[in-house]
Amino acid sequence: MNWDHRSRLTAVTAGALALVAAVTVSGCGSGGGGGTADAKGTAAPQGAAPAAGSPAPPPAASAPAASPSTAAPAGQVPAAAWAKWNVPPLPAAPPPPADKPVKLTKTGQVPVISNITTTDKVVFVTLDDGAEKDPKFIEMMNDLKVPITMFLMNDTIKDDYGYFKPLQAAGNSIQNHTLHHPQMSTKSAAEQKSEVCGDQQVLTQQYGTAPILFRPPYGDGAHTPTLNTAVQQCGPRAIVLWRETMQIHDMQYQTADKKLKPGDIILAHFRGPTDLKGETMTQMFGELLSRIQEQGFTVARLDDYIAPPAG
Ligand SMILES: [Zn+2]
Repeated sequence: MNWDHRSRLTAVTAGALALVAAVTVSGCGSGGGGGTADAKGTAAPQGAAPAAGSPAPPPAASAPAASPSTAAPAGQVPAAAWAKWNVPPLPAAPPPPADKPVKLTKTGQVPVISNITTTDKVVFVTLDDGAEKDPKFIEMMNDLKVPITMFLMNDTIKDDYGYFKPLQAAGNSIQNHTLHHPQMSTKSAAEQKSEVCGDQQVLTQQYGTAPILFRPPYGDGAHTPTLNTAVQQCGPRAIVLWRETMQIHDMQYQTADKKLKPGDIILAHFRGPTDLKGETMTQMFGELLSRIQEQGFTVARLDDYIAPPAG
């Protein structure tokens, strides 16, 4: 993200988010866009049919390459892998709930979600935009198998759509984040539709699966009827915000106690040293995992808690 982009963000957040303390660095959606007035998994009839948008299940763990002393049970990440990335081992995520807390509908208004209702000690990690394409991050994810959900914006990924395919192949879904990252509430209804439908079309073509989730840049406009209508017209069936924003070494919280809660959705970005004051993507991500681990949480897959539209 270049400086121009960040400056624009600062203006956006300063204007819109007076209620949120201390917006510092951070970018897309930093601050309070994460939504105070979320509807947590409202809506809808039954049904958890597998549907377009569901990622393929992660491939079975391959034969352990580690030495016997670091071998772990099937499906577990070996201690040596955590040590390699200087991250304390996270517990395995609990089994996905049979009854998904969020049930998406095929038609009608889409819910706005910034956390998932669950008692599991899990949080969900989302990674936005797609500017940084660090091969080391692919390696890290292959080693640690931490589930992520990617909200990709075409301007930042169009120079290398392929970068994200190994992450997708590991079971991580790719979701909609507009073509050009505008502040949606400043755009006409037609422009908002073009932003959402355009990214939907590109992502569907490039990755073979239609996104079912949409995140507006900066969280802006999430609760407006105009944006809700645009999302409905383009295919995604929920607007996803967040509770915490990962910066460089720690998270910015929306609650005064600065503690993760079960089901929180965390916003982070594909960012590198230019935007992270010299830190790499893998260093930032390792710090994020450490902050999660030290609060007694682990990371679960967001898609496992959301039932796509039945039928
Ligand atoms: Zn963004």
